[in-house]
Amino acid sequence: MPPEAVRAGFFPQLVRWQAQHGRHGLPWQGTRDPYRVWLSEIMLQQTQVSTVLAYYPRFLARFPDVASLAAAPLDDVLALWSGLGYYSRARHLHRCAQQVVAEWGGAFPPRSADLQTLSGIGRSTAAAIASFCFGEPVSILDGNVKRVLTRLLAFDGDLAVAAQEKALWALAQALVPDQPEPAEMARYTQGLMDLGATVCTRSQPQCLLCPAQTLCAARAQGRPTAFPVKTRKLLRRTEAWWLLVWRRPDGAVWLQQRPQTGIWSGLFAFPVLAGRDELLAAAQTAPERVVEHPVLRHSLTHRELLLYPVEVPWRGVGEPPLAGVLPTRWVKGPEALDLGLPAPLRTWLLARWAA
Ligand code: SF4
Repeated sequence: MPPEAVRAGFFPQLVRWQAQHGRHGLPWQGTRDPYRVWLSEIMLQQTQVSTVLAYYPRFLARFPDVASLAAAPLDDVLALWSGLGYYSRARHLHRCAQQVVAEWGGAFPPRSADLQTLSGIGRSTAAAIASFCFGEPVSILDGNVKRVLTRLLAFDGDLAVAAQEKALWALAQALVPDQPEPAEMARYTQGLMDLGATVCTRSQPQCLLCPAQTLCAARAQGRPTAFPVKTRKLLRRTEAWWLLVWRRPDGAVWLQQRPQTGIWSGLFAFPVLAGRDELLAAAQTAPERVVEHPVLRHSLTHRELLLYPVEVPWRGVGEPPLAGVLPTRWVKGPEALDLGLPAPLRTWLLARWAA
């Protein structure tokens, strides 16, 4: 249980602070529409606010409600998501919309426990939707909030250990009063997000601006950045991917949809080969006939990809020999941008076409 002073003081102080100093006016604020809140929460996972600001209105213009999203082909959803990364989010989003329509009559359930049963909605996202839209007194606990609360409470349990994370969830919930006003509950949730994003930042917390400065145990100990404690380091494996870029005389390049599982699943990309020799063999061409472009680095959660684009002229008719069962396209210029493309390939193609 958190100390009594923190239990009594943190919630009202954060609510007051959010009203005066928190973020206001983001396009997904000021609404209690669960569809809009849910969409913003999913987009904001692992993605900067500045990036989401460009995608969010575009997505809403195309899919204004859960029914239109549920009825859309997955490829259309992936195309609109193109560039946001972590494409499994888009697939879950689509599946979740279909569940809401099929199982809940087209309206999101109001309770966080029910929201968690939907595809792609974890405990913290469910709490965000339920507290913002329905005033349910449940705490969120995303990465930023873990940082704030471990500092506030000087919680030094190792968050790589499931039992410690569970203990922090219990502490987070204990900070929420039993029956807050729904509007205050929503403001508290927003306050937690704002505090983590703007004041209690990872390496330079601005404790003098913090509404919790008199309550904060880490500050009292003079070591805010000692929290959170998480021992397990992320191991990232490096992999080389050779990209076979068949190019027609008119400038069109050949893309192939990737399988529905694995990296870039369901997106359109160049055929991937394991090495340069394999690529030349697949293209049935000699080294002097190809153009090798500089390597591109692309970091994923568990992998560092080194992408080697190799351009091969195509003077044949129809499809290159690698065509399989998955859909393929010849694309030229901006029409490729209507397809779901992995972010590094989209950037690379845009630069090539602009040159
Ligand atoms: S006082 Fe400092 S360390 Fe504590 S919650 Fe506020 S910003 Fe974070």
